[in-house]
Amino acid sequence: MKTLYYNGQVYTGTLPLVDAFVVEGDTLAYVGSQAQARALLSSQDTEVDLQGWFVCAGFNDSHMHLLGYGNMLHAAQLAPRTHRLEDMLACLREHLDTHPVASGGWLFGRGWNHDYFSDVSRMPTREDLDRVSTQVPICAVRACGHCLVVNSKGLEVLGVGQHPQQPDGGQIGVDDLGQPNGLFFDNAMDLVYDAIPVPDKEQLKARIRSACRALNAQGVTSVQSDDYCLFRQIPWQVVNEAYQELEASGELTVRVYEQCNFTTVPELQNFVERGNHTGAGTSFFKIGPLKLLGDGALGARTAFLSQPYADDLSTQGLAVFTQEAMDALVSYAHTHQMQVAIHTIGDACLDRVLEAYQKALEAHPREDHRHGVVHCQISRADQLERIAQLGLHVYCQSIFLDYDNHIVEQRVGPHLAQTSYSWKTLLDKGVCVSNGSDCPVELPRVMAGIQCAVTRTTLDGSVGPYLPHEAFTVQEALDSYTKCGAQASFEEEVKGQLKLGMLADFVVLSANPFQVPAEQLSSISVLATYVGGRRVFQHEA
Ligand SMILES: [Zn+2]
Repeated sequence: MKTLYYNGQVYTGTLPLVDAFVVEGDTLAYVGSQAQARALLSSQDTEVDLQGWFVCAGFNDSHMHLLGYGNMLHAAQLAPRTHRLEDMLACLREHLDTHPVASGGWLFGRGWNHDYFSDVSRMPTREDLDRVSTQVPICAVRACGHCLVVNSKGLEVLGVGQHPQQPDGGQIGVDDLGQPNGLFFDNAMDLVYDAIPVPDKEQLKARIRSACRALNAQGVTSVQSDDYCLFRQIPWQVVNEAYQELEASGELTVRVYEQCNFTTVPELQNFVERGNHTGAGTSFFKIGPLKLLGDGALGARTAFLSQPYADDLSTQGLAVFTQEAMDALVSYAHTHQMQVAIHTIGDACLDRVLEAYQKALEAHPREDHRHGVVHCQISRADQLERIAQLGLHVYCQSIFLDYDNHIVEQRVGPHLAQTSYSWKTLLDKGVCVSNGSDCPVELPRVMAGIQCAVTRTTLDGSVGPYLPHEAFTVQEALDSYTKCGAQASFEEEVKGQLKLGMLADFVVLSANPFQVPAEQLSSISVLATYVGGRRVFQHEA
């Protein structure tokens, strides 16, 4: 049986818009004019009047953490309550009152950002959290995911005392007397995560279900998701099983390309030797690239820069891997049918990443490798050129401009800022730039991301535009969330556009983005979302 969708404004991935398409099973049987579409129908087929609404391919969030998002949806939501430290603490208190913590459990929250605090201008400490509870251990993760704070009970449970031993690639915050202040940065956060009881497979599935529902409501039909590192104690097999079981029961309503996070060659080797390689799987759950975390984040000044931070000369940030360690991982993946995607925020980290890719490609040339740079924020002109020459993919998050407009120049200084977040320059050099949210770092609000890509300002328009010549057109922004995402997962022949034979993954929007003023793009709402021809979200009127 076929379904005709007619009377729409349909962006297929190329202009001009068309007005109709036909879905048969999970794919598109026709895309074009209503008259021709109707000729394909027989009497038992159905019709849907799109009433003039805008339709495009379902959105692809090309770098995020689906399980982390589901986990956030099951934890205290600090992001909307981060304008004052007091409000953040109130939010934790309310969550504790409404979600009692079982014995041995922790109160978990995520999403604070002290740059937004109006009552204090510092990070929260254990003393602050002690005002929420001295009985229940508490862990509150900063929005960036590169830093967290625990209360005194938490430190007691962790057994972290005076003058703690500092781990590689991370830091345990201490006061002048060497007493832990409750803060943990980057790799040091593993000490905390390892102590928090992990969910079982059914609880993982509940988190995935919640995340899928929330993603569908934003028009997202595909994600490229880094999930293995959220709970280091849970083997990757269990994460895969959770997804596969949800797929089998028809509950996986987002297509997942897993960005497989491993930190050592033996772990990666074990994964590969069990038959895993990029592209293995189904259209709903596929093994994606090896995912590495190259450095930290700009907000917490842990992104690895080639010079000291302009607003803190004592630091250049943190590199997670030495050049040798990164080379070894990239080389192994490159020679074992694995694509690679590396989180890279600072320019010194980018040097290391480019070096690793160049060595691997020189030793074993491979066409169409689609290795990539995730974030690609702080960059120099020579590096942008090298990204193009090496044929790399770039995974940008234009929504980051909403916050980073406030801090880029302060953090890296005006010189380096001039050639950073230069995603349009990369497009112009022929680099495929896909978009995403890095959720739960930002919420997966696609239309907000599209607005930032086009305006280069904060969402409220009060700061910026930052490098306005780096703005995407509306079409480039839509493509970054559709076509280019499909390109990143080698699936440009099956999704990312509305073309004959492609998957019927599409989204119905409340307005035509080509006709809405740029600063209002984020107000466009998602009316309905379809995955493989099946409606998985409908806006409640
Ligand atoms: Zn990420």
